[in-house]
Amino acid sequence: MALDLISLKSQREIEAMRRAGRITAQARALAGSMVVPGISTREIDLAVRSFMKEKGARPSFLGYAGFPGAICISINECVIHGIPGPRILKEGDIVSVDVGAYIDGFHGDCAATYACGKISDEARRLIDVTQTSFWKGIAFARKGCRISDIGHAVQTYVESNGFSVVRDFVGHGVGAKLHEAPEIRNYGVPGHGPRILPGMTLAVEPMVCAGDWQVKVLKDNWTTVSRDGSLTAHYENSILITDGEPEVLTVTEDGAYV
Ligand code: MG
Repeated sequence: MALDLISLKSQREIEAMRRAGRITAQARALAGSMVVPGISTREIDLAVRSFMKEKGARPSFLGYAGFPGAICISINECVIHGIPGPRILKEGDIVSVDVGAYIDGFHGDCAATYACGKISDEARRLIDVTQTSFWKGIAFARKGCRISDIGHAVQTYVESNGFSVVRDFVGHGVGAKLHEAPEIRNYGVPGHGPRILPGMTLAVEPMVCAGDWQVKVLKDNWTTVSRDGSLTAHYENSILITDGEPEVLTVTEDGAYV
């Protein structure tokens, strides 16, 4: 991936990515609104499938490398790539929803972690720190910075709050392909990697553990959990690099980012 060129999007492509981003964000909001005790993760997955069909979009993750769900639903110690199924959500769970939508040749990609009913103060803080770390990171998603500046800012903020960032999985460019160059780590020293240029579209996605950062993939080859079993959270948006502030593409018509 590191040798791939980073595509700079044209105005026409940016318009298409805004459309894809809006549908992706709406699907995330829909999934998030369904996170309540007693519902199965499959029901949430099916609702997102219907929504995307209605919008003329295709779920980006369905069939991607054989992934069986339309979206990823990852509960508690599961940080990413949870497969929707019969599991019933219960009070106190924290539920990460990762959604991709493909329409008119472009993908949107976004994620957020939602509280199922009443959650612990620690879980609430984990979700908040994870979301804030995204904004700390994209403060450096601008012309003149380098890609590793983003991850450095994410890591610094997360660790200053006593949590850790996952190293084994990274953010990425997004566009005509779901995963494009460059890789965007959520850790590391600043001042490295490609220079950030207007027209780049990036999926920035901090994955955060309440305990140690080490993760493992379960036997289904997807479900990725913290090794120490600690709670985890995820937050992601697709963004456009501009001449000024980055523009978040995965935002609903109402301006919602979760
Ligand atoms: Mg992503």
